Amino acid sequence: MFQMGGAVAPEDQLDTTQTRTVMRRVLRMAAPFKRTAYAALGCVVVTTSATLAAPILVRHGIDAGIRAGDLFELNLSVGLYLAITALAYTFGRMQYVFLNRTGESFLRELRLKVFAAMQRQSMEFYDRNKAGVLVARMTADIETMGELIQWGLLQFLASGFLVILAFVVLFSLSWHLTLVVLIVFPVIVIASVKFQRDSNTAYLTVRERVGQNLGTLQEGIAAVRVIQAYAQEDHQIKRFERSNRSLFDSHVRSIRISTWYFGLVEFSGVIATSLVVGIGGWLVHRDTVSLGTVVAFILLLSSLFDPVQQLSQLYNGVQSAAAALHKLFAILDATPEVDEAPDAVALPSRGELAVRAVTFTYASGSSPALEGVDLVVRDGERIALVGPTGAGKSTLAKLMARLYDPTQGSVTYGGMDLRQATHASLRQRIVVVPQEGFLFNGTIRDNVRLARIESSDAEVEEALQRLGVFAHFDRLPEGLDTEVRERGTRLSAGERQLVALGRAALVDPAVLVLDEATSNLDPGTEAEVEAALEKLMQGRTTIVVAHRLTTVQRADRIVVVDKSRIAEVGTHAELVARGGKYAALARAWEKSHAV
Ligand code: ADP
Repeated sequence: MFQMGGAVAPEDQLDTTQTRTVMRRVLRMAAPFKRTAYAALGCVVVTTSATLAAPILVRHGIDAGIRAGDLFELNLSVGLYLAITALAYTFGRMQYVFLNRTGESFLRELRLKVFAAMQRQSMEFYDRNKAGVLVARMTADIETMGELIQWGLLQFLASGFLVILAFVVLFSLSWHLTLVVLIVFPVIVIASVKFQRDSNTAYLTVRERVGQNLGTLQEGIAAVRVIQAYAQEDHQIKRFERSNRSLFDSHVRSIRISTWYFGLVEFSGVIATSLVVGIGGWLVHRDTVSLGTVVAFILLLSSLFDPVQQLSQLYNGVQSAAAALHKLFAILDATPEVDEAPDAVALPSRGELAVRAVTFTYASGSSPALEGVDLVVRDGERIALVGPTGAGKSTLAKLMARLYDPTQGSVTYGGMDLRQATHASLRQRIVVVPQEGFLFNGTIRDNVRLARIESSDAEVEEALQRLGVFAHFDRLPEGLDTEVRERGTRLSAGERQLVALGRAALVDPAVLVLDEATSNLDPGTEAEVEAALEKLMQGRTTIVVAHRLTTVQRADRIVVVDKSRIAEVGTHAELVARGGKYAALARAWEKSHAV
């Protein structure tokens, strides 16, 4: 069956203007593939004309050949019929190839554009859009689109063309019989529209319940230890039984709808045919139409049913594809919040990093995560940010690396506002080392190289050597060429951190912004990571979101962040002597870590 685009959830419905805008944009984007699209369209015209010509040849064969007893006319009709059917078939196949080519080319382009747009987005975008949703954009939404492009647009033209042309042919053959057809036709159209609506709702219910059932399943598996510990298996089985049953119900309903619909359409077809045969036979008897005309009519009717169904279902397809596209275009159109200024220049190579009167509110946050923060970090200074969870330490660190732009105030480096700097120079001077360095599929070497893709093997090795960790990786059977994701060679948490530090060393920045891991590593690796970190920090300005007393003690100055503000600034000794928030924090640390 021709079922396009699935269903549209009500909240996804676009209004007509939006749909039109989206469609216009699709046509613009599809412009480069115009030639294949025109080729497809040409095939559509040939196929349709040939399909409709076949019954006319049959008529000629019957009237001028069989009934007139003229063997030549009969043979001619049969020969032409064969030729024209072969033509329809060939062009029909070609149409399919061209259609797919156009659609796939468009999708290739769209996927690339969306991916590129996503990669350029800043942190704010990822705060707003969860990864799962973005993946859905790339997969489900693009697929829906693909169906529209491949089937929808040209199918619409093909079906529309066929229906109109078929009626013209029918009418020219016999207006009497055309009127008969017109009695049955509305039934099919109305049934199709209604089916489309019902099946839409039924499909949405199925989709929702599949999700629910999966959710119950996942929970049941993930929580199986807890469930068994409390002997709640039966309860869980009952829960699953319920969601499984409702999924079953929705499937049955959806099947029932389509079964009845097809029954109705088929039956309408039978009625139309009987009417044409009955009334046609009577008209033949009265010599109003020829026998060939009645046969041609019956043949034409059968080629009319499919396109009518397709047309009525198309509206829904266009709607859901437009909804999907609308969301994709929103991604394409989103300008990164942290964008490069048109007149951006390179950041100075050294200088002080200054936060001035900065207030910052997350796009999704209601109250400021930072308020009126001032901090000047001297070139080469080591700063530890400490404070309770949620105080704003990470936010401050992120602003200092321009992962976000301040809502008010400014962050400058060497006297220059970070917003004025080119992205390239910014990422060269200021490097952020996250808590958990992400590892891509590939070798250790490639994973380090990621930070500066143009680096040579020697440069990667040299960077690791500077951190004193080259030997660690070199000891592995395949050394730096070890695949990080291969079974059995998965890197430990400590090793992953070493890779992350290696990346930073490769860039060789002036400023390091570190989010210290909260979890403890095993003592051996921990010492190695610390030693590497110490080497990496040599001669660089460092801002560390600190979770360990040792890190804090080694800092030149400690900045205590509390409730979105800077509460205290000073050295360890100064702040302990002051007996304020830091002193309390340090005492608590000493007790719990027993450093
Ligand atoms: P800390 O690092 O001191 O634990 P954060 O800087 O992470 O604190 O968070 C400060 C405040 O900002 C918290 O209230 C937190 O909930 C909020 N916050 C942090 N990240 C985001 C985000 N991406 N979107 C919205 N709010 C956030």
